[in-house]
Amino acid sequence: MTDRRFVFVNEEELFGMMKDIDCLYCRIPVIGSKHHLKKRHLRFAIHYKDSDIGKFSIPCYCSDGGHGRSHWHCPMCKKILQRTKDFRIHIHNHGVKMTDKSTAELEPTAVLLQTLQSNNNNNSSHNNNEDTTSSGKLTCQKCGVYFTTASNLRRHERLQHDQDQQPMLCIDAKKAIYVTPKDLHGPRVPIHIRKSFALQILLCELEECWDFMKTQAQNGNPGKECRHLVRTNHARAYTMPPPLCVISLEEMTHKNLLSKAEGEECQQMNSKACSEGVDCVYPILWGEQDLLLERCIYFSVHTGLKDKWCQFGRTRVSFDIRSKVWKCQCEGGGDHSCVHKCLSMWWLFQERPELLENTIEITVERVDLIEEVVMNAEDANKMSTEVDELC
Ligand SMILES: [Zn+2]
Ligand SMILES: [Zn+2]
Ligand SMILES: [Zn+2]
Ligand SMILES: [Zn+2]
Ligand SMILES: [Zn+2]
Ligand SMILES: [Zn+2]
Repeated sequence: MTDRRFVFVNEEELFGMMKDIDCLYCRIPVIGSKHHLKKRHLRFAIHYKDSDIGKFSIPCYCSDGGHGRSHWHCPMCKKILQRTKDFRIHIHNHGVKMTDKSTAELEPTAVLLQTLQSNNNNNSSHNNNEDTTSSGKLTCQKCGVYFTTASNLRRHERLQHDQDQQPMLCIDAKKAIYVTPKDLHGPRVPIHIRKSFALQILLCELEECWDFMKTQAQNGNPGKECRHLVRTNHARAYTMPPPLCVISLEEMTHKNLLSKAEGEECQQMNSKACSEGVDCVYPILWGEQDLLLERCIYFSVHTGLKDKWCQFGRTRVSFDIRSKVWKCQCEGGGDHSCVHKCLSMWWLFQERPELLENTIEITVERVDLIEEVVMNAEDANKMSTEVDELC
């Protein structure tokens, strides 16, 4: 460890010094790559002016500091200081002018530990040992976590950083009902949740989530939210969907798309929902999506019932655009006909009739796009996709 410098004029000086050798400022052997230097050293650099020349010092983790704890070597008198604050005062006394804008006293070791811990909490599959493996290529640009394969990295980016991948839409503000995708990968099958501090409600439709929250409560964590409930932090506020119109229902019975009895039942259900001040059919559109590229369209439909399949008085209806198959959670989710499906059909017939037709014009370009979307979805998750079961 000879010729270590503790003051630099620019970053290139530091990078050039450690080309292809182990970091001179770390106790544990690790290549002194740009990535490493940025992440462990430059990030915490202290800037100052020495005779009007801008310079900076970096924290060190060498054995001089004991057990790899961060410390500072004074570039002027070789003294070692453990605390960032003390180092600032020390070099200030040597006559340099501090130019750091931030006055926050970051202790590098504490910050790094915190980063490591939060990464661990976010996703246990993260490889946090980036120091020994960094190649720069498979490192997440947003948080610096290293990955062994490109698909793992893509998946991480999607799950951790792309908030659009975990949308949460309010569909009933009064009852505090939201919809959110069950899983973050594969088809975005919605589930219902309810969350309101005012109403003291914290509920998820999924059985596995009840178990999770129950166990958490028993272990002294009451109010611990499942992976769906936590997403309400960035929920989209309620927006009213286009309401169902009687004229379009009449047109459907006229065209024999619905029987007269089915039409009447739909109208009754819709009036009932209206009188309760809720949307009978809420189409679940996650964002600026092109419905023609989706495999399934989902609806949250008012039932007025409370059962295992509609705990919050709403059921999920899906429509497979390609096979034209409708499914509803009621009656075990089979191919039966039910008023919920008819209601959803009513909405689709009124708002997006082209999707109901058998001959959707699919251009070559569209087929490619669909393939791409499907492949991405498959690639993002090689675990269960359960498309048919969930649709
Ligand atoms: Zn280092
Ligand atoms: Zn040191
Ligand atoms: Zn000194
Ligand atoms: Zn990341
Ligand atoms: Zn849940
Ligand atoms: Zn149904």
